[in-house]
Amino acid sequence: MAHVSVNNARKDYGAFKAIKGVSVDIGDGEFVVLVGPSGCGKSTLLRMIAGLEGITSGKIQIGKHIVNELAPKDRDIAMVFQNYALYPHMTVAKNMGFSLRLKRMPRSEIDQRVGNAAKILGLESLLERYPKQLSGGQRQRVAMGRAIVRDPAVFLFDEPLSNLDAKLRVQMRSEIKELHQRLQTTTIYVTHDQIEAMTMADKIVVMKDGLIEQSGSPLELYDRPNNLFVAGFIGSPAMNFIQGTMTEDGFRTEDGLLLPSERRPRDAVTYGIRPEHIMLDPNGIEVTTIVVEPTGSETLVLVRLGAQTLTCVFRERIRAAPGDVLRIAPGHDTVHLFGADEQRITS
Ligand code: ATP
Repeated sequence: MAHVSVNNARKDYGAFKAIKGVSVDIGDGEFVVLVGPSGCGKSTLLRMIAGLEGITSGKIQIGKHIVNELAPKDRDIAMVFQNYALYPHMTVAKNMGFSLRLKRMPRSEIDQRVGNAAKILGLESLLERYPKQLSGGQRQRVAMGRAIVRDPAVFLFDEPLSNLDAKLRVQMRSEIKELHQRLQTTTIYVTHDQIEAMTMADKIVVMKDGLIEQSGSPLELYDRPNNLFVAGFIGSPAMNFIQGTMTEDGFRTEDGLLLPSERRPRDAVTYGIRPEHIMLDPNGIEVTTIVVEPTGSETLVLVRLGAQTLTCVFRERIRAAPGDVLRIAPGHDTVHLFGADEQRITS
């Protein structure tokens, strides 16, 4: 096990700056998820930690060692890729033991390690199959098995679930999390899927344009996003944003409607409210229903507030039809306020 520390790392591809000075500390045994939109640099950062990309400047430390100059094989890491990268002409057992054979580990120890990993991953009955005889989920498990047998200090995952269908993705998500609970190996996991990040991570690092926007526990990011980008990125459906100005009576929208707010900072220009924090309230503000989508456990309702569309998620089943008027209000202490600089206003 090891902690990983990235200190002011930069990566230039010619004139293009893919990573613009990133620092992050990953504790021993921690499960950290790098998340952000396509092109934000999360894979590049992971590959820099793995040693698959050089680093333009800065420092990367794994355990006690600065690894900037070390080859990937000497970094005590194991990486699981999106496409699994299995060897098609090798059986599952051979695929899993391959890196150990390269290290000239004794046959008996290889067999023991492969056997153990197969047991952990439920692959025991598949060891003699070839990759083409496996389902997507099974291939994914073999790829993880290949990482586990090496007993590395750090696991690196690059969007490992993106080739699986939605149901299998949810199942594998739990399996990876359970595996981490069992092995307690320091893990860095890249995804663009914020739900994956929320459900798996001890700590989430949100990236955009080669920089870290915010890092913290999933609930810290959900409850106190630093800025508009993180507020809109974390949470599903996304937070509603309403533009306007703060007055002594509440937040006045650009249409002149007055929204309740417990805090009244004068420099607030964006009012943020999560769909699940909007409540039905007989004394609330009037909105007109546009679309109603019952999911069984909850009801998603799009409503019109002045010229804006808001998404609401109600935990109850509600009877509303398009055109119906509803009255809504924010739940206690659920409004997020942002200034013209797009930063959260905390006071
Ligand atoms: P995705 O979710 O789409 O994989 P990402 O956040 O992982 O995105 P990266 O693959 O890290 O993004 O790429 C970050 C930026 O660096 C992108 O704009 C990409 O085009 C650029 N980039 C990556 N590799 C190279 C390269 N070898 N040469 C030039 N630019 C590159």
